[in-house]
Amino acid sequence: MKMISERTYRAVYRLLDRVSPLDTDCGKLCGAACCTSAYEDGEEMGIFLLPGEEKLHSPEDSWLDWSEESTEEMGFPKSWPEKVHFVHCKTPPHCPREKRPIQCRTFPLAPHLSEDGQLTLVYNDLDLPYRCPLIDEQTPLNDSFVQATETVWKHLIRDPRIRDLVREDSIEREEAILRLQEMLGL
Ligand code: SF4
Ligand code: SF4
Repeated sequence: MKMISERTYRAVYRLLDRVSPLDTDCGKLCGAACCTSAYEDGEEMGIFLLPGEEKLHSPEDSWLDWSEESTEEMGFPKSWPEKVHFVHCKTPPHCPREKRPIQCRTFPLAPHLSEDGQLTLVYNDLDLPYRCPLIDEQTPLNDSFVQATETVWKHLIRDPRIRDLVREDSIEREEAILRLQEMLGL
């Protein structure tokens, strides 16, 4: 099984350090909603780390709180380790930029993997406790950001555990689209 190495994660972080969705700080559009929002029940948002990504962080990091959750209970793929790492930022939206997890770096895009193995990027369509203006308005994003994000996901899905996650999310997306089409009689 090909696992993503710590070295590859470091290369991914370096590549994504060089790009941004927009030339301006999109956090000014929304008060950095993706960093600072919480769920309605007050539950703090966490950022999950991909398998092996935790090696780039430490529970001793002063800007993060950590938790480990059951992979099964959280609905991650069966191929994942028993525990998934969640990190919670202590002073959002301020963080060491070069330390941001992959989830933060590739947002607001998400990878979509079709049944025949084609990878594309879509605007993130998970249920979120906030509105992202870039998603709502389908704002065109910097080409360099889109290309780097696509390159990164192409590498990451070589790890079967990450591939399973991306494919499972893609199946849910495809089923939701089908349900919507049926509802609209299309
Ligand atoms: S990605 Fe979206 S929600 Fe996050 S700061 Fe930018 S505009 Fe706001
Ligand atoms: S790591 Fe940084 S970018 Fe990501 S949620 Fe925390 S404060 Fe926001």
